[in-house]
Amino acid sequence: MKPYILVVEDEAPLVTLLRYNLEEAGFEVEEAVDGEEALISVRERRPDLIVLDWMLPAVSGIEVCRQLRRRPETRDVPVIVLTARSAEADRIRGLDSGADDYIAKPFSPKELIARIRAVLRRTRPAVSAEQLTFADIEMDLATHKVTRGGKATHLGPTEFRLLRHFMEHPGRVFSREQLLDSVWGRDVYVEPRTVDVHIRRLRKALGVGRSPDVIRTVRSAGYAMELQ
Ligand code: CA
Repeated sequence: MKPYILVVEDEAPLVTLLRYNLEEAGFEVEEAVDGEEALISVRERRPDLIVLDWMLPAVSGIEVCRQLRRRPETRDVPVIVLTARSAEADRIRGLDSGADDYIAKPFSPKELIARIRAVLRRTRPAVSAEQLTFADIEMDLATHKVTRGGKATHLGPTEFRLLRHFMEHPGRVFSREQLLDSVWGRDVYVEPRTVDVHIRRLRKALGVGRSPDVIRTVRSAGYAMELQ
């Protein structure tokens, strides 16, 4: 799966340039022209990283950043700020806005891409990694191949996303609602027990019975990836 980048910028030519270059570099790109649209977009689908212009109409970059940091579900989304001047960059650093990095305009797309990769590596290693490993399970994110103990495992698309989510956060307990938000998306309305159905399918695909179960059912809480 490609890392998903949200570009928040009101200068149309710059957005076009960024979209072109980021897509060429293997990222999936969505755009927002102002802060309000950005906050709505983030709620609909959580980006792996946000490229945020500092000077935006209506809701400013700093306010977007603050609102993102305030909400638990977006607190960890990395943000790279675009600023007009390096003096402004100093101010951003001074303000402690919660931005992970900043880059002063004008900049080359190549430079921005290098910064994006660096921030992704640092903040969400699982996003930039091509492979995820847990015990004897391996996931290749580029080819979508999953193996357990070296043997190919066939997963449906939902089971693939579910397994990926667990493998990116081993040991962490997720409620059914949290899994629905992260794996199915916030705009999709399905019954929490749907999660149980897909967990069952995932366990079956991973050969649970012959191999140890790696998904622990946490009573009245949810599920976690753990060796038991
Ligand atoms: Ca602007």
